[in-house]
Amino acid sequence: MSLHWRCPDCGEALTPSCSCGSAPVCEAHVWRVGVPAAPTGFPQERADHLADIEHSHFWFAPRARLLTDLIQRLRRPEDQHILELGCGSGQMLHRYTELGLTSTGVDGTRSSIERAALEAPEATVIHANVEALPLSSEQFDFVAAFDVLEHVEPLPFLNEARRVARTGARLLISVPASQWLWGPLDEAAGHRCRYDRPQLEAELRQSGWKPLGHTRYQFLLFPVILASRLMRASKAERHPPKRVGTLLGAVNAAEVRLLSGRRLPWGSSLMMWAEAA
Ligand SMILES: [Zn+2]
Repeated sequence: MSLHWRCPDCGEALTPSCSCGSAPVCEAHVWRVGVPAAPTGFPQERADHLADIEHSHFWFAPRARLLTDLIQRLRRPEDQHILELGCGSGQMLHRYTELGLTSTGVDGTRSSIERAALEAPEATVIHANVEALPLSSEQFDFVAAFDVLEHVEPLPFLNEARRVARTGARLLISVPASQWLWGPLDEAAGHRCRYDRPQLEAELRQSGWKPLGHTRYQFLLFPVILASRLMRASKAERHPPKRVGTLLGAVNAAEVRLLSGRRLPWGSSLMMWAEAA
């Protein structure tokens, strides 16, 4: 499936270049237009840390399964091309292929997107600023952004997501839930905020998305998380002893297996889906 490029500086179509002289280039399977600046809201060390723990931390694998189930439920039969904004090291990209979708991943952190190119050779991966995409308007059938919004300027980001989506396209987004849970873990992660549902719905509406539904993740573990935050045991939550991590992962996996078709009323992550209006 061919991608349509647009210069992030002058806004002209890149066919193959624009009047300011930019053109898409591909090095080691990573595409870029110009040299993207490193993202300000997402430090390099954080990106590398996430890429290292993604395969083992109790939060990730069940979450990936839940997000895949949600995309499978939300996608329309005619959908072909999915775009993931802030794809990190590309752990989700091969799942889109398994759903029969063509996938494109964008991330602003160079080391992450280089890993994504290795993890998902079948995907197109782009090193770019997610708030100024080098992509033409109205070309994607589905847009995904998992735990990205809380790191960026929300309206520029959601507007860009809307611009490159076709009318009627679906968006699936996840964010840390409940501002009252705000704590040292959020500060360490570089979050701007945690999200309550009305705030996320308002930002989606302001950027041309019509909210359709929502659920939560880490519903069963929520009391444990709450206790851990109240005791300020954030380090243990980030790096629990191996046996504890395995147990927590099993609880999250059971939640996704048993409850992923339901709207869960609480949990540490908020997942919301919307349609390009
Ligand atoms: Zn240009």
